[in-house]
Amino acid sequence: MNDLKVLQKTEALHEARWWEPEGNGRAHCFLCPRHCHIHPGQSGFCFIRINQGGKLYNLGYGAPAALQIDPIEKKPLNHFLPGTRIFSMGTAGCNMGCFFCQNWDISKSHQDQVHSKQVPPEKVPLLALQYGCDSIAFTYNEPTIWGEYVIDICRAAKDYGLKTVMVTNGYITYEAFHDIYDHIDAANVDLKAFTEGFYGKVTLTHLEPVLQTLEWLKNETRVWFEITNLMIPTLNDDPAETQRLAEWILQHLGPDVPVHFTAFHPDFKLRDKPPTPPETLHCARKIALKAGLHYVYEGNIFSEAGNTYCPNCGTLLVRRSWHDVLDNRIKNGVCGKCGTAIPGVWEMDGKRKGLFG
Ligand code: SF4
Repeated sequence: MNDLKVLQKTEALHEARWWEPEGNGRAHCFLCPRHCHIHPGQSGFCFIRINQGGKLYNLGYGAPAALQIDPIEKKPLNHFLPGTRIFSMGTAGCNMGCFFCQNWDISKSHQDQVHSKQVPPEKVPLLALQYGCDSIAFTYNEPTIWGEYVIDICRAAKDYGLKTVMVTNGYITYEAFHDIYDHIDAANVDLKAFTEGFYGKVTLTHLEPVLQTLEWLKNETRVWFEITNLMIPTLNDDPAETQRLAEWILQHLGPDVPVHFTAFHPDFKLRDKPPTPPETLHCARKIALKAGLHYVYEGNIFSEAGNTYCPNCGTLLVRRSWHDVLDNRIKNGVCGKCGTAIPGVWEMDGKRKGLFG
């Protein structure tokens, strides 16, 4: 556990959910599979859940460290409101320890090491509307660890008809899963590899809980979700591993979950590996399509494999350039040529309000 250099006054803190008191003032946090047992004056692995006086608090509540407007394709989501802008926010900390983290400046920081702003949940939808966004993303660091704030923002967003999106590592317990995801419209889940060895050594977590989360999303919610697999040379790019990953997705989630194979660039503690060659992504995509997945994308490179094609007749349906949508020929959720249904959320449902109602 981490000692806290600066403790805030408890009256300014937001009490956490998903914890229970233990002996000697310790708090057991069961929000994620780490199950931290936190002594008074210390934080959990994720830095932002702290034990103060025997109670657990969430330092990230109402205090985002990053606010930005992104194209929704950047999350990445290719089958959810394409071509729209998404109000994106993150806090400090993370419950994984990925050596290749590309947002390590906030995810590996304590709350008092980032420049955070005070933004109460009810203000977030107003900011999203002000910037012309149809949805709000909880992203950049792992939003599970600030789940209390996520839920309250979602409640406020629903009043304006705005959609909400988790960009997540999927490391959450069942005790917290429905509390959060029952409020969520869409998610992108990082499936960082398909070996326990990679998860253990390179992310300091485990593979199995992430697979469970994907199955809960599929079987127990109506959340639209897509999967990202960041391919790192020599660590998780073995074609046999990609084959197993694709087969697992097909068998447990079905052929229609979009999968994004994306390119790594050296960062944080993993600077001795080269950037992912485009050929690795091409090879992974071929394997996944051959295995039977219908929507397989390449990301972080310029590629025609960022487009959406009809899995039945092969027609180009959504043409993209990097994160821009150049052309969208999906009408009423079907292929304009052969009428095959293309799964996803292609339009707002008309409930969205403007800033002034
Ligand atoms: S959410 Fe944070 S404090 Fe809670 S178990 Fe996970 S890493 Fe530990």
